Amino acid sequence: MHELGLLAEIVDKIEEVAKENNVTEIETLVLDVGEYSGVVPAYLEDCFPAVIEGTMLAKTKLKLNIIEGKAYCHDCGKTFMIAGHEQNCPYCNSQKCEVIEGGEFVIKEIVAR
Ligand SMILES: [Zn+2]
Repeated sequence: MHELGLLAEIVDKIEEVAKENNVTEIETLVLDVGEYSGVVPAYLEDCFPAVIEGTMLAKTKLKLNIIEGKAYCHDCGKTFMIAGHEQNCPYCNSQKCEVIEGGEFVIKEIVAR
């Protein structure tokens, strides 16, 4: 479960930025989590209380913005939603597809009080 480490890094980063901006309390933390980022949203929620304990974010709410997987087909030029783990193009069945959305794991928004 690498979610714990990822969250700890994010919390560190936010504390740093908050201090620079004289922010003392963060109300909500919004993260973009792509379906293909390898991060499991349920684990993030499980880890969050342990990670924020004793930090400036102790009262912060976690909000996850799930981004669906989307791919681009290099053969026919169409984009399509990735269903499950099937990444072949549904139009021409090509395997030359590239994930263009859904690999994100980034801070989307920090709402300060
Ligand atoms: Zn195609």
